[in-house]
Amino acid sequence: MIIFDSMKILVLNCGSSSLKYQVLEMSDAGSNLLAKGLVERIGSPNACHTHKVEGKDKYQTEKQILNHTEGIRSVLDILVDPGYGVLSSLAEIEAVGHRVAHGGEFFFKSVAVDDEVIEKIEKCCQLAPLHNPANLTGIKAVKELMPDVPQVAVFDTSFHQSMPDYAYMYALDYSYYEKYKIRRYGFHGTSHKYVAEKACKLAGLEFDKAKLITCHLGNGSSITAIEGGRSVDTSMGFTPVEGVTMGTRCGNLDVGVVTFLMEKEHLDAAGVNNLVNKESGLQGLSGFSSDCRDLVDAEKSGYKRAELALRKLAYDIKKYIGAYAAVLNGVDMIIFTGGIGENSDRVRELVCTGLEYLGVEFDFEKNKGARGEDVVLSKRRSKVKVMAVTTNEELVIATDTMEIVKEQQRKQAVREEKQLNNTEI
Ligand code: AMP
Repeated sequence: MIIFDSMKILVLNCGSSSLKYQVLEMSDAGSNLLAKGLVERIGSPNACHTHKVEGKDKYQTEKQILNHTEGIRSVLDILVDPGYGVLSSLAEIEAVGHRVAHGGEFFFKSVAVDDEVIEKIEKCCQLAPLHNPANLTGIKAVKELMPDVPQVAVFDTSFHQSMPDYAYMYALDYSYYEKYKIRRYGFHGTSHKYVAEKACKLAGLEFDKAKLITCHLGNGSSITAIEGGRSVDTSMGFTPVEGVTMGTRCGNLDVGVVTFLMEKEHLDAAGVNNLVNKESGLQGLSGFSSDCRDLVDAEKSGYKRAELALRKLAYDIKKYIGAYAAVLNGVDMIIFTGGIGENSDRVRELVCTGLEYLGVEFDFEKNKGARGEDVVLSKRRSKVKVMAVTTNEELVIATDTMEIVKEQQRKQAVREEKQLNNTEI
């Protein structure tokens, strides 16, 4: 049995009609991104496959891709293409890591995929009806196309499985939890854990001891309270709708508004789902864009509803920071990440203005223009540190995949050695 020093890993993130991928070469010394790409409009005759390898021309083609198996086949073909590829043969891919949206109460950490794991992911489909079925098609397609390659599932929810029951329970009749598993699960777990660990390393704090509030702010946004290296509360809930204002999701909302609008606008469940997921948030408030960049530009031109949308977003985040500082009995560091958290000095400035009571001395000058880098945003003497840190969910997936597969290989090697010794005796 060979134990590899470095490992080429394909990371797949399958959506309902798309798949994102990266190939990373992982070793104990670090990681190297070899290729990345995206297949969009899966299921249509003019699906689009974009692929990029550092130092080579970008590949882009439109063709018929009717399902995820065909999509993954297209990815595998381009990876070994003499012109655009990055592998001499598919045998170089030693493992595949999948982003899986929902692990329910089954998964506290990433796991090697086997039939039992597939069955449990299937059981979680009712909790994430748009995402888990797509993730499963990716796993099954790889099983069909590369049957001997080990697969690992990395869940958006698993980091939050450490929340105490009073944080994850809703005050509904307990029978709904028993019957349907209705509770807070939280999402973006891989990102929250990754940026928290990275920021602690950079700031010289011990992840296992620090009190942290991580703000993952992108099209979807969530805030997490972390203590002792464990998630103790998070703003997204049973679904990703709960929490702060997002690109097109409304975040927290009085349930009474939903029943009122159902009556007035004659909305059924699908209508409500569409309203709270697709037509609300920054998009709904501003009336013209879900994109933070557009809103910052429009605010500068004096467009009042863009300013309102940005202020509402920042106010929501600030309220969670206050709440989670109370939950944690203090906070050592506040961390911003995600497209908005990493790039928008305007949103960070709005959030961090007026947090002096908490011990935050925000460095407004340093914040200005800080974009896409790991940077300390608090003053040196600030009791509470503030950082912006870039996230990399694919790297977490590849790292977990490498560790799990290497562990399997180690165990297999021990088993083989034992067998050999027994035969010799
Ligand atoms: P994500 O979902 O993490 O890719 O984040 C997408 C969000 O990040 C969008 O609202 C973008 O407008 C926002 N974003 C990306 N770059 C910038 C930037 N330079 N300034 C402000 N917002 C940005």
